[in-house]
Amino acid sequence: MGKPTGFLEYDRETSTAEAPLERIKHFHEFKTPLKLEEQRKQAARCMECGVPFCQSGCMIGGMASGCPLHNLVPETNDLVYRGNFKQAYLRLSKTHSFPEFTCRVCPALCEAACTCNVNGEPVSTKENERAIIETAYAEGWVKPEPPKVRTGKKVAVIGSGPSGLAAAMQLNRRGHEVTVYERHDRIGGLLRYGIPNMKLEKSVLDRRIHLMEEEGVKFVTGVDVGKDIKAEELTKNFDRVILACGASNPRDIKVPGRDAKNIFFAVDFLSKVTKSLLDSGDKEQISKEVRSLAEGKHVLVIGGGDTGNDCVGTSIRLGAKTVTQLEMMPKPSETRTPSNPWPQWPRVLKTDYGQEEAIAVFGHDPRIYQTTVTEFIKDEKGAVKQAKIVSLKPVKDEKTGRMNMVPVEGTEKVIEVGLVLIAAGFLGSQAYVTDAFQVKVNGRTNVETAPESYESSVPGIFVAGDMHRGQSLVVWAIREGRMAAEKVDESLMGYTNL
Ligand code: FAD
Repeated sequence: MGKPTGFLEYDRETSTAEAPLERIKHFHEFKTPLKLEEQRKQAARCMECGVPFCQSGCMIGGMASGCPLHNLVPETNDLVYRGNFKQAYLRLSKTHSFPEFTCRVCPALCEAACTCNVNGEPVSTKENERAIIETAYAEGWVKPEPPKVRTGKKVAVIGSGPSGLAAAMQLNRRGHEVTVYERHDRIGGLLRYGIPNMKLEKSVLDRRIHLMEEEGVKFVTGVDVGKDIKAEELTKNFDRVILACGASNPRDIKVPGRDAKNIFFAVDFLSKVTKSLLDSGDKEQISKEVRSLAEGKHVLVIGGGDTGNDCVGTSIRLGAKTVTQLEMMPKPSETRTPSNPWPQWPRVLKTDYGQEEAIAVFGHDPRIYQTTVTEFIKDEKGAVKQAKIVSLKPVKDEKTGRMNMVPVEGTEKVIEVGLVLIAAGFLGSQAYVTDAFQVKVNGRTNVETAPESYESSVPGIFVAGDMHRGQSLVVWAIREGRMAAEKVDESLMGYTNL
């Protein structure tokens, strides 16, 4: 696999990112991939390590290590090294439905678990994947694959995020007639209205959706199942239903003044911006109304995670005056701690693109750790004008042994804010859908199934993605969609070859 001495001969190199002060002038992807010849050298660094955790997707220390899709990473790296991109594409397609999404947005669990990462220089598997799939598109190898025979069975998929799309693709290719219902005006779930264009250009998504349409998948947009269509209508008209509605219930900040104007949940804000860009067509402009949400304002982002980072990058592009990002938890260590060894997922400080941009524009990291909001203060028109914030410290709960973050007396202060974005995570599925299908949910309001099963408490109703796992990653959603498709196929046909 790869070149046995490659990792000794070649240093890790990755795509070049446009400078922060330049890229904030637009909403496009800003990374220039390596030339194919250079990418081949990177693939040569895959070292035939013998224990490729990169493809294991197993749980170590309570966290997933390696690719949940079990992509055969050493094999594809070897094919890239040898310049056999067609075989690499065919190999990757055996385990993966949408490499064009993960090669852009995945945090690369494969690279975190790579043996070369023992020294902090993993094989650039994510960008190798990009080289494979983009070469495959450029060469015309990615073609619609309609089934040769139809089974006469009908499946409804509710939700068009990565889990719903992966399930739909598999089941349609198997010969079942698949209809995907989406409540939004466009297909894609959080790939469309969540993850900003800077990370995933929407033309990449459209390219795949057109292929799926040509393969025979039917997409119905603007239909909210459980509201616009009754669950019974779908269970009557389809042989199986897959719920792939995401974990769209955002965690709120319940403090006085929360009802002030100009306080939004992160996804609502990010969706408005992307929708405005897409609605402007070729002009790719943000409407005045949407721009004014952040332009010239002090923006406060609550939540130090990836969604919060997307809010930072987006607010800067809209012309925010300042951006502050609050994180309740302590600042992570810059390097792995002894309790978090390789190949565990590294719980280390990550400075993402939005934070890099904030540093370039404002001269400092926007994140303030161990801090939360205790109150929002309104102006005379009811809009938020200030936030009271307080520092937190970890205190052990003697009964449960858990660490709780509690306010530190005397640290309260008031900061000026004109826009607040709540990026504090998600609580699980939405009750109107689970109630409509009468499926059982667990304590986290994720739809309950037996372990390794994707069938809900109601026979014939399956579940996939964040609605099943809770808020997670695109790569997990794709795996869930593929696994749910397998179970649906098995239940319809008595066996499965998916
Ligand atoms: P979703 O993508 O949430 O899709 C569910 C779809 O179902 C939605 O389109 C919704 O409108 C639709 N729906 C819900 N109810 C109904 C109904 N009743 N009728 C019809 N349609 C319905 N992960 C990464 O790996 N990398 C990233 O960079 C990344 N960035 C993120 C940024 C943000 C801002 C957010 C919020 C998440 C991000 N994630 C990222 C997580 C990732 O997007 C999700 O884990 C993934 O999209 C979940 O896929 P899903 O198919 O389960 O659900």
